[in-house]
Amino acid sequence: MKILDIIVPVYNEEACLDKTIQRLLKLKETFKGKLNLNYIFVNDGSKDKTLQILEENAKKDKNIKIINFSRNFGHQMALSAGLDYSKGDYIAIIDGDLQDPPELIYDMYQKSLEGYDIVYGKRLKRKQETVFKKLSAWGFYRVLKYMCNLEIPTDTGDFRLITKDVREAFNKMREKHRFIRGMIPWTGFKSAPIPYVRDERFAGETKYPLSKMLKLAFDGIYSFSFKPVSFIFILSILLFIISIIILLTGLLTEYEEEHVICFTLTFVSSINLLALGILGQYISRIYDETRNRPLYIIKNLINF
Ligand code: UDP
Ligand code: MG
Repeated sequence: MKILDIIVPVYNEEACLDKTIQRLLKLKETFKGKLNLNYIFVNDGSKDKTLQILEENAKKDKNIKIINFSRNFGHQMALSAGLDYSKGDYIAIIDGDLQDPPELIYDMYQKSLEGYDIVYGKRLKRKQETVFKKLSAWGFYRVLKYMCNLEIPTDTGDFRLITKDVREAFNKMREKHRFIRGMIPWTGFKSAPIPYVRDERFAGETKYPLSKMLKLAFDGIYSFSFKPVSFIFILSILLFIISIIILLTGLLTEYEEEHVICFTLTFVSSINLLALGILGQYISRIYDETRNRPLYIIKNLINF
């Protein structure tokens, strides 16, 4: 029988994990006679009892496999490790906090049988998330759509089902700054959405503070778009026009010289710094790629 690997990245999820495992294991019944299930949990350097809970469950059920990172490498690296170690015919990616309903994986599988290699969850509504999170996510997906020359579906996370062809294509991409929900559509395989309501976190707090959210957002933009560089060019033209206007008004009217000089200096230097900053983002990413470090370090593997 064909195999479905379910990849679950977990970081300090002791409060959710028992319930998550319980609901995921129920899927074995749902898929009975259709697919054999393996669960690949990636422990992303948790400091709480996450690893202990995983190990206890892995002892009881050999289909529960653990990739244990040496430290926290981040959600995107955890997913990448899961995909590197997956050998199944189908692969599902799901968060460990039950915000993505595990039962939907069956609907995704059914949809994939219609001839889709990628079936992604499209968030219709987000229950109980802060207004800031909802607004920033809404804005981000629209900015990304404008910036990138690639069809990245709006309002989707990493919750999806892919076939092994997509996994093989994806695993060839070894870039260090990863925006997986953009890299998977980049492979070009046929895809379809499954709409769903994103539940609230079962327990615990988000492991995506603003700093991690911003990092992911900038990785998305910088790795899929060169528009920020064109943006510098447009700014330089605008600035040129503004400086001519200042010059002409200065020549034609009486004005306070200091104000204008002050304004011009600060304005010009802020734009210069912005331009340098944008270029710096691309250069530091080039540096990161050339260092050739592994994406993540594994301390040990269980049940592989
Ligand atoms: N996660 C991870 N490493 C991290 C941060 C998060 O493996 O550094 C996992 C986390 O345990 C969860 C998933 O990624 O299973 C999504 O994180 P979270 O639910 O905190 O993000 P949110 O839903 O709030 O955006
Ligand atoms: Mg969550």
